[in-house]
Amino acid sequence: MSKKEEVFETSFHSTNYNSLDVDFKTAVLQGQAIDNGLYMLNNIPSLTDETIDSFKNMNFIDIANIVISKFIGNIISGEKLQQIVNKALNFEISLENIANNDYICYLDRGPTCSFKDFGARTLARIMEHFLEADNKNITILTATSGDTGGAVAQAFYKMSRIKVVVLYPKNEISDLQRKQMTTLGENIIAFGIKGKFDDCQKLVKTAFADKELNHVNLSSANSINIGRLMPQTLYYFWSYSRIVGKKNEKVIFSVPSGNFGNLTGGLIAKKMGLPIKRFISAVNENNEFPTFLRTGIYNKVDPSINCISNAMNVGHPSNLARIFDLYEGQIDEKGVIHRVPNMEELRNDIISYSISDEATKDAIVSFYNKYKKIIEPHGAVGWAALQQYRNSYPKNNDIKSITYETADPSKFPEEIIKLIDVVPEMPYSLKIIQDKSEFPNSKEIGEYTAFKEFLLENFPS
Ligand SMILES: *Cc1c(COP(=O)(O)O)cnc(C)c1O
Repeated sequence: MSKKEEVFETSFHSTNYNSLDVDFKTAVLQGQAIDNGLYMLNNIPSLTDETIDSFKNMNFIDIANIVISKFIGNIISGEKLQQIVNKALNFEISLENIANNDYICYLDRGPTCSFKDFGARTLARIMEHFLEADNKNITILTATSGDTGGAVAQAFYKMSRIKVVVLYPKNEISDLQRKQMTTLGENIIAFGIKGKFDDCQKLVKTAFADKELNHVNLSSANSINIGRLMPQTLYYFWSYSRIVGKKNEKVIFSVPSGNFGNLTGGLIAKKMGLPIKRFISAVNENNEFPTFLRTGIYNKVDPSINCISNAMNVGHPSNLARIFDLYEGQIDEKGVIHRVPNMEELRNDIISYSISDEATKDAIVSFYNKYKKIIEPHGAVGWAALQQYRNSYPKNNDIKSITYETADPSKFPEEIIKLIDVVPEMPYSLKIIQDKSEFPNSKEIGEYTAFKEFLLENFPS
């Protein structure tokens, strides 16, 4: 007798627990739950030890296909999902042994040279697939602290059913980061805001809550979208499988963290069965999370602090809601704790270090002097945090570690030249953007009313 095909659908709840559960398609197209919570899996799927062990002999795409299908269920056919993954993740990922048991995994080889390419490119194709099936159009509204905007803009570029509006803090991002958003045109509109990332995010959140904009069909592509989060579990499985010897060997991950989407991807991978000794959540001077882990008291850093790792200048990380959720806690979008998470388990799984700009710069210099390789500010925060961990826990020195490098050094030339007097070589995908001209529709906006007016003018009902 033939076995009946297993039908399974994944379902999602809001981290605020004040709206109905939805399926994957709704979670992705809606972006955020109507109660302002973030969507989270009701059941985290699991992988057997044997499956995880078998990843050793597979390439990234094969691993990606196995892992991602667990999240999505049958709502997208296996064949279609494979096409989506193959197209979205068709770039290099690599891993290098730096010293003793310490490895760096390079997530910066995608088209925008940021780890955000993993999430954004997968999400774009999943959305396109759903919209095509329903014959619908949407507008993606997204706030960026630097890298999200570029990754999202490039990922959705020229998709006929999707318009993209990006808001960026105009004085806090590099010329190159801006040009990744403002030189595209077509379906991409980018606004420079006189403020910080948090101000951009506030505008986005206000627009989402504004009933007069309902007809614009807004959705998000920030890491608040669950469709961006899932692809961020994939490289944990891949990088783990490149370095382990024996089955069930545990590994330490050092994760540069800003809005905590990357770390949440890792935490989900751990719940799925990946043997992880501990996560090091490496933050810059925005130290709300390490302070919370230490004291149990949560205070956002408001306004957020400007650091050279600018994609991590986040004073109140959205994905904290998901991390609380994973540990039986609840925190809302304002940062109010409604249920205290299991602090013991949280502290067991994650240690967090705040790395000052001074220490980040020292790490870039010493890394170059020691290994003759360039690390950029975000990866340097991760590497510096790993060094602190190694100094504090020498008994764990035989446990291997992976630090994620999340951007290409050539995106931060001024800083790097100043520190080590070397001009980081620019990958081709960035070189071609440098000389492009910017579109005039990339204007500046300060107040919500001006922003809303723009949306209403451009998306008449
Ligand atoms: C976004 C970003 C981060 C932070 O990732 P989160 O998922 O927001 O924690 C780190 N490094 C770079 C280069 C980024 O673009």
